[in-house]
Amino acid sequence: MSAQVHALKAPTPTARATNAAARAGAELFDPVPFKVFTPRDLDRIPQLARLTPAQRFEMKVVSAVLPFRVNQYVIDELIDWTNIPADPIFQLTFPQRGMLAPEHYARIAKLLENDADKAELEQAVAEVRHALNPHPADQMQMNMPLDEHGDRIDGLQHKYRETVLFFPSQGQTCHAYCTFCFRWAQFVGDKDLRIASSEARQLHDYLRSHREVTDLLVTGGDPMVMKTRHLRDYLEPLLRPEFDHIQTIRIGSKALTFWPHRFLGAEDADELMRLLEQLVEAGKHVALMAHYNHWKELDTDAAQAAIRRIRATGVVIRAQGPLIAHINDDPAVWARLWKTEVRLGLVPYYMFVERDTGARHYFEVPLARAWQIYQQAIQQVSGLARTARGPSMSASPGKVEIQGVTEIAGEKVFVLRFIQGRNPDWVQRPFFARYDDKATWLDQLAPAFGEQKWFWQDEYEAIREEKLAT
Ligand code: SF4
Repeated sequence: MSAQVHALKAPTPTARATNAAARAGAELFDPVPFKVFTPRDLDRIPQLARLTPAQRFEMKVVSAVLPFRVNQYVIDELIDWTNIPADPIFQLTFPQRGMLAPEHYARIAKLLENDADKAELEQAVAEVRHALNPHPADQMQMNMPLDEHGDRIDGLQHKYRETVLFFPSQGQTCHAYCTFCFRWAQFVGDKDLRIASSEARQLHDYLRSHREVTDLLVTGGDPMVMKTRHLRDYLEPLLRPEFDHIQTIRIGSKALTFWPHRFLGAEDADELMRLLEQLVEAGKHVALMAHYNHWKELDTDAAQAAIRRIRATGVVIRAQGPLIAHINDDPAVWARLWKTEVRLGLVPYYMFVERDTGARHYFEVPLARAWQIYQQAIQQVSGLARTARGPSMSASPGKVEIQGVTEIAGEKVFVLRFIQGRNPDWVQRPFFARYDDKATWLDQLAPAFGEQKWFWQDEYEAIREEKLAT
């Protein structure tokens, strides 16, 4: 272990001071037991008694296919039970009948009604899941790197030159599940659909040999479900000089929404704050990539205390989330969300377009409407909140942003740009798609002005073929 790592064991006076200040806020919150509810507990959630038995059965059918998990904090503090089923946090966490296509719903409902044999039900559920595009944007084939023997390295994705995604196996769950989750396949217990690694060594070996990588994104699920000691095993070694090229450590999380007590009274919350502070003090930029969909998620005392505590460590909280029908397809919701984020010291970062997976038909918003919502929301906020980019599609060729709708030479078009691309040279080059008020994803758009293909298409196809061949 290097001298630098040893030095980290003794926090600096500044670190001690901020830790003390942050702890003072956290002491207002007693440890709260984490109580979770899964599909088999649906009948044990008292608030659901106000639904009819038929509605509760619908939830059971949907949760047989798509993941469901909620906790007492979400139930008690975030959902307005006088406003169900319309309440956005209820829609965010509880299964809705419309999430399954009618034929899929009917198939599973019939099996449950007839108390079907377990194997038959499992087979039907597996078939429905596979019809739901569990790994959008060719993640399995296109993004997972190979080792020196040509074998796929589990638990890593390396799509853009400078950023590696790491999926620690202990972080492949969340404190609650979002109904629209684009990583839902991580949670359904199908090993073939999972991306995860418990190998800190594999991560470190890969980063050591890829000097072009500057950013590590630890993601899941939610890495904040992990014990701090596991996070430390992954992150602390990055302070050795051999990892000086890793300048930024990002941690993707929705724990500030689903379980802010993780940062307050949890048994290892203090240790987590110390770890974050150590990384910052050692010169890394540490960003908590917080997932938010609605301003209600920021409205509780616990959520705001957790934000203050994390910010006291020097970690920057960047806020991002998808635009989702039934939850936040309203410019007023986004404007209030971004304003609240800025007031609490968060940096609005992305408005994403819902991905082409899972229950997308229930949650998707046409690109044309998405752009209108973005534009009308951004017009309502000050410059500090206009850091939010979007609407952005994380598609297989790259992150494509809809910059606007306009008319050029008599043709109505979408103006698009790559925020990130498989080839960095594509980034920031505007390109144009024929306007289509129904399209919901990049693959439903066609090039404008009579062009037969996109400027990046041949190169992308070549990259794709090469990846799929390995
Ligand atoms: S927090 Fe993220 S990974 Fe977890 S369920 Fe929600 S969208 Fe999926």
